[in-house]
Amino acid sequence: MIRKIITLMCSLTLLTGVVGCTKQDKEEESGKIKIMVSINPLKEFAQAVGKELVEVDTLVPEGMEPHDFEPKSKDLVQLNKSDIFVYNGLGMEEWLDKVLSTIQDKDRIKIVDSSKGASTITTEGKIDPHLWLSLKQAKNQAANIKDALIKIDEKNKEQYEGNFNEFASRLDTLYYENEQRFNKLKNRDFVTGHEAFGYLCRDFNLTQKSVEDVFAEGEVTPQKFKDLVQFSKENKIETIFMEEFASPKVSETLAKEVGAKVEKIYTIESKEDGRDYVESMKYNLDVVYNSLK
Ligand SMILES: [Zn+2]
Repeated sequence: MIRKIITLMCSLTLLTGVVGCTKQDKEEESGKIKIMVSINPLKEFAQAVGKELVEVDTLVPEGMEPHDFEPKSKDLVQLNKSDIFVYNGLGMEEWLDKVLSTIQDKDRIKIVDSSKGASTITTEGKIDPHLWLSLKQAKNQAANIKDALIKIDEKNKEQYEGNFNEFASRLDTLYYENEQRFNKLKNRDFVTGHEAFGYLCRDFNLTQKSVEDVFAEGEVTPQKFKDLVQFSKENKIETIFMEEFASPKVSETLAKEVGAKVEKIYTIESKEDGRDYVESMKYNLDVVYNSLK
């Protein structure tokens, strides 16, 4: 018995020793490239391209609606410790200039505008920032991250390119699978929480109506609600899409009013239900397609 206890104590000490050691190593130097991204989809792209060579953190915490985010000083400390900072661009990060001005070592930290080279959409005079909701534009964003990684870590170029190609082909496959079936649709209008799906609409020739605008701003006025009811009835909308962070109650009320069902949709601005980027996009395309067919 005593021997058993001693053995147990030894393995426990060993275990704590090992755990303590790994933790310390990680805190000091993991040898990985530290990437800070602004929002959740970019985290997924950076992880897909960098895999085990990178460590990715997100400025906007999980479960927060990024249009309302304000960075805190601890976020800026963290940002200054990273090797690469990736932002979405196109006005998604309203706080961008403020954050960029706090970067001390501008020669060391590589700053990446993931929207570089994007083919953008302008709605109501504003550029729509929700690029990642297009599989094609997401590929471009991931490519910008890949290029930045190769610039600062040339020796692993092949690995980054291989990872990128693998991710890109998953996006392409999902796109082509959907292109065919969406082409055959007659109904092309859907109603959602905020105007985030402009790029997805462009890819598949659809139109969106939404409770809130492209920057998830604006009160839902009685007039706006009336317009949505009318639009939904005229277009025989059977499903109202609900976003967790954009007036979900209004979407539910609207659905009741027009006799439609409510279905969840992901803007992917924050990670939801443990689904990764490709899973969330596949889900979105499935529910939108099913609501229109
Ligand atoms: Zn948004």
